[in-house]
Amino acid sequence: MSKKPSHSLTVPLGAATVALSEVGSKANMLATMAKLGLPVPPGFVLTVEACRSLSAKSADLTAVIAAALKSLGEAEGKSLGDTKAPLLLSVRCSATVSSPGMAEAVLNLGLNDATADALAKQTGENRHAFECYRRFIQNYAHVVMGDDPAAFEDVLALYMEERGYVSDTELQGSDARELASRFKAQFESNNGEAFPQDTHVQLLATIAAQLRSYHAPRARTHRKLHGAAEDAGLAIIVQVMANGGLGDQAGAGRATTRNSQTGKAQLSGEFLRHASGPDLVAQLKSTQPLESLGSHILAGLRDGLSKLENFLCDGIEAKFVVERDQLFFLSTKPVRRSAAAGLHMAIEFSKAGLLSREEALLRIDPLSLDQLLHSTIEPDVKRNVIATGLPASPGAVSGLIIFDADEARALAALGRSIILVRPETQPEDIKGLHAAQGILTTRGGMTSHAAVIARGMGKPCVTGASSLRIDVAEGTLTAPGLVLRQFDVITIDGATGQILKGDVPTAKPELSDDFVTLLEWADACRRMKVRANAETAQDARMARDFGAEGIGLCRTEHMFFEGDRLVAMREMILADRERDRRAALAKVLPMLRGDFVGLFEIMAGLPVTIRLLDPPLHEFLPEGGAEIDAVAKSLGADSGLLRKRIQELKEQNPMLGHRGVRLLLSYPEIVDMQARAIFEAVAQVQIMSGTPPIPEIMVPLVASRAELDLVRQRIDATVQAVQSETGLTFTYLVGTMIELPRAALKAADIAQSAEFFSFGTNDLTQTTFGISRDDSARFISEYQTKGILKHDPFVTLDVEGVGELIEMAVQRGRKNRPELHLGICGEHGGDPASIAFCERVGLDYVSCSPYRVPIARLAAAQSNLQLNYKK
Ligand code: PEP
Ligand code: MG
Repeated sequence: MSKKPSHSLTVPLGAATVALSEVGSKANMLATMAKLGLPVPPGFVLTVEACRSLSAKSADLTAVIAAALKSLGEAEGKSLGDTKAPLLLSVRCSATVSSPGMAEAVLNLGLNDATADALAKQTGENRHAFECYRRFIQNYAHVVMGDDPAAFEDVLALYMEERGYVSDTELQGSDARELASRFKAQFESNNGEAFPQDTHVQLLATIAAQLRSYHAPRARTHRKLHGAAEDAGLAIIVQVMANGGLGDQAGAGRATTRNSQTGKAQLSGEFLRHASGPDLVAQLKSTQPLESLGSHILAGLRDGLSKLENFLCDGIEAKFVVERDQLFFLSTKPVRRSAAAGLHMAIEFSKAGLLSREEALLRIDPLSLDQLLHSTIEPDVKRNVIATGLPASPGAVSGLIIFDADEARALAALGRSIILVRPETQPEDIKGLHAAQGILTTRGGMTSHAAVIARGMGKPCVTGASSLRIDVAEGTLTAPGLVLRQFDVITIDGATGQILKGDVPTAKPELSDDFVTLLEWADACRRMKVRANAETAQDARMARDFGAEGIGLCRTEHMFFEGDRLVAMREMILADRERDRRAALAKVLPMLRGDFVGLFEIMAGLPVTIRLLDPPLHEFLPEGGAEIDAVAKSLGADSGLLRKRIQELKEQNPMLGHRGVRLLLSYPEIVDMQARAIFEAVAQVQIMSGTPPIPEIMVPLVASRAELDLVRQRIDATVQAVQSETGLTFTYLVGTMIELPRAALKAADIAQSAEFFSFGTNDLTQTTFGISRDDSARFISEYQTKGILKHDPFVTLDVEGVGELIEMAVQRGRKNRPELHLGICGEHGGDPASIAFCERVGLDYVSCSPYRVPIARLAAAQSNLQLNYKK
């Protein structure tokens, strides 16, 4: 007995709701429209399951398709290929995951010599019938046979020329008939076979071609690279043609319910008389406003759109056709939107009671909030892109190309907008970074110095633009085929990584009431706290304005890179004896104490995590002969001696060298000075404000408990000393960063001496992969295109590898110290996908650069909601 085909191989449109996974998104929307009572041309869907068996050639579905066609035809009083009442079809793809290169719709399928005649008789429109036929031949040739449509366009152009026509409106019925014959001849000449007259062959071949396009290698690779299933499903919609060429009122149009920039209700759209959907896309004729539609059609359109909006709780765009005087909806999708518009709609639908707050929150892509916090390039501007690097810090800005940090400062003082262009930046460039409006580097990744600093400052930055060459001596910046000079103007777009030639208009950000409302709602739904990485008063204030609940990382080395502090620091590094080092550090102490007082005051009792000095010492020293001589002079030191010391401090691999806790163990006087500066500041603020600050002292790059213990003893001793000097008692925590795989492995042990862990995922990613975070940009994209890595692991946490280490450290640490406080302060702390991971493993907070705080607040809320919805 032959197996009966499952009823789910075809689904009639207009039946009950059908799942997207069964019929793809377009058909799912059509079914929704039909269910809401909107006029939708009747039809059926060949389901994903049916299409899978067709692709695998595991079943012959001819009978199934014939049966679906039969019931469709019966309802319409027509039949496919019938020479009296021919059924004409539109056949299109409905993917579960859309992919590039998907075949376009085939329209007017079912026309052949005889049915075109029948259509002409039936409608009394000779010209219309044969124009549909000609277009179908071209459409079929392109989709099914892979022919270039240009060959058919040439046939039409030649015919017009022969007849001396200037516009295709001059074509008569006889012309249309003749053109259809010439198109058939062109088809035959292209393909060595006649255009198929068998309408069932037309249908089956079209379905097969659409399936082929979806499963082509390019489409599969695209899906894989975008995290979707390579073998995601395709369904096919077979629908009765709604003909926009029939009747005075006929035509095709599109309508949107919302303003795409603001999200406010505003019906707009266009209508093309005597046209079909593809004409609208090609825009060959000029369109008319929706008001040109007949009043009852416009009323039907408004009514349908409003039903759809209310049902989907979203602004929508719909395509429609008017056949004679009847309106049909062909498709609908969410309206294109700016971030501000998306926010406005979610909040408006929620306030109207159509969406819950939680649903509204889950609708917003947290990263889209970036658009609201930074300048963006005006949407309609033509972009003259000269190179693309990594989108290291969002925002768009135009400015003069300047290669030197001092020059940047001098010009900025004159009010000029500067883009500081460097191969990579060093800590001593900090003043140039402050002065510049934007930063462009040709080397370095997403966690390079320039990227981290720029994100902290909220300045646009593009890093790793490796197709650009900088020649400082010549004063040139060379892009492929283009040489720019110092003082030429470029624009950088830190959201896309694009570098554009010249000045480009940008739009300034504006924080709306919607933004504030959304974040209030988010705060009510999140469990994890959100802190900021900040060390300057300006950053700390910004962080609080954005809603940060403390500082999760104060990189104290950033406090040493300027002015007198840098001089004193250099003195300290140069000193051979501990006594001289202490003397140099004593000069820095009051300055640091002042900084900490500022931070504690701004944070007003919120936690402040202060990391002790981390980077290798040579980062504080000058590079290059002239600079060394100048520094030696200012220090009153011998330049030969300075050179020797710099040489001594040189390391093959500084990131894995004498830095972090290792440095603190070699120079414990640094710990003493930093701890004293912190606790004297605590005392000062405690006395002045009455609110005791609660510092969390963090030790970097720890690999074992013993290292932490030694540093901890010195911190505790300093606390004792300052307490007895002031008569005050301080509350504080001492903890460690987890930045090395060994630290994660030994977490149980380390937790015995640490009150908190903060995952330093920039270094933890670097040390787990063994990939330098400063050099990864050169090759990591290759790993992505080859499908080895889905994301740059320095941007989105590698959950499988680095994530496993974090999870292990969380479990092991909490086993020995259940109250262990846990956070993350690597750049991943501001990345929504990584934040979702932090929620899953139960971290207490995430910490990110100030401008990322709103993103993190929303992402933390979404992660919590998603986790709880799943439960
Ligand atoms: C880290 O390694 O993740 C971190 C926050 O420290 P830094 O970026 O300063 O090395
Ligand atoms: Mg680190």
